[in-house]
Amino acid sequence: MKVSVPTITLSCLTGLMAACTSSPKQTQPNIIVILADDLGYGDISVQGAKNIHTPNIDRLANEGVRFTNGYATSATSTPSRYALMTGMYPWKNKDAKILPGDAPLLINPNQLTLPKMMQEEGYTTAAIGKWHLGMGVGNVNWNETIHPNANDIGFDYSYLIAATVDRVPTVYVENGNVVGLEKDDPLYVDYEKNFEGEPTALSHPEMLKLRWAHGHNQSIHNGIPRIGYQKGGKSALWVDEDMADHFTDLVKQYISDNKDRPFFLYFGLHQPHVPRTPNSRFAGTSGLGSRGDVILEADWSVGEVVNHLDKLGILENTLIIFTSDNGPVLNDGYQDQAAELAAASGHKPTGLLRGGKYSLFEGGTRVPFLVYWKGTIKPKVSDALVCQLDLMASIASLLRHPLNMALDSRNLLPAFLGKSDQGREELILEANGKMAYRSGDWILIPPYSGPEANLTGNELGNLPEGGLFNIRKDLGQQQNLLSTDRAKYDQMMSSFLEITKEYYNPETEEIELK
Ligand code: CA
Repeated sequence: MKVSVPTITLSCLTGLMAACTSSPKQTQPNIIVILADDLGYGDISVQGAKNIHTPNIDRLANEGVRFTNGYATSATSTPSRYALMTGMYPWKNKDAKILPGDAPLLINPNQLTLPKMMQEEGYTTAAIGKWHLGMGVGNVNWNETIHPNANDIGFDYSYLIAATVDRVPTVYVENGNVVGLEKDDPLYVDYEKNFEGEPTALSHPEMLKLRWAHGHNQSIHNGIPRIGYQKGGKSALWVDEDMADHFTDLVKQYISDNKDRPFFLYFGLHQPHVPRTPNSRFAGTSGLGSRGDVILEADWSVGEVVNHLDKLGILENTLIIFTSDNGPVLNDGYQDQAAELAAASGHKPTGLLRGGKYSLFEGGTRVPFLVYWKGTIKPKVSDALVCQLDLMASIASLLRHPLNMALDSRNLLPAFLGKSDQGREELILEANGKMAYRSGDWILIPPYSGPEANLTGNELGNLPEGGLFNIRKDLGQQQNLLSTDRAKYDQMMSSFLEITKEYYNPETEEIELK
């Protein structure tokens, strides 16, 4: 020590003051959130998938903290992503529902967001990949710069698909501008009616290379029918099969460009959401059809990102969070054989969980949730109850950023870093505007009318009498303890109503902002 102290002082005096007074390695790690789209708890090999081998995602799990009780707030994309970005429960915002491709920006530019917080801490920030949080103010003109866009809620750079791969417009939007658009062929989008003379899946089934099963029978692009109508913009239309390569290249370039300063990167994977369009390198490789193939493709992307960080020498200074926006679905509107091939091979996308995407049962919201930080986090499997909602307050704690406002986000940093088993005590889960309540090992599902399942075949969790489950003893939610433990049900219901009283009306079974 006697030798090293004057050495450092000398270095500072010779122009390395910044490096000496703050240590980026200690205080400002890069942070990458990789958010898969509709990837189930059981879709990765480290969590039981036997027919799908995901070595790159498994590496994050085996060398990081793997959460067995990690949740999205919601069983669908938009509300789930809203919670991750804002640290607020989505059911407190009446517009936080699955958005069409031309929806206005859901997040108020005045609202505090995770990326804005990172900017305030001196980070450069980017969102690349799937968005589905709206852009513009409605009636979007795709031929002009769209305001507001992702950049207005905290991203210095954005390169996005506006909504989902199955919704128009089928173009990339960079910093509010459609990429590759030519002035003499403007792009038009409509979710109400078709443009005259434009083919649809109903009028021109012979144009389809992928057939629809339900819903997706409007505009056709790349032989794939979509939700919504579009016309023009031919030079800007994406090639589905190249999307993974495109986003992965952009992510690697962004990392290279920003390797010398702290960055926050949100990478929205588009897999394994429908339509599943693997690159030819992956097509047919899983034995589970295109859904399995695109999971392998997503795993490859994850590997590319991690290896790139390693190659640049910044992997140990990068905290990586890998999770999924909601649970899995097999038949989500296209005839891609996902359900048949999963059944034939015994693949269970939710693992042992009941339900899936759209569901109030656990399969809707309990998702892969991995936190990896080479050299800082010791490998661990954690049963702590954590939610994507909590990333905001926890990252604030990591950066010692004061949060002077009430958020639903909880600081669970010790749990995320694997230093504590203490997670949340309770969590409200949401699916299609309905809510369930987890407290400790118990799940309450209030009484809801409505169908048992939707067109996908996934159970929705509508239980007309209500439901009570002990998920430590009964992970698959097969035993409704409502009648055998009425006191527990009543106690849970009382707590649930207290938490949600300003929003939930048990008479109408609906969330109402009062
Ligand atoms: Ca999703």
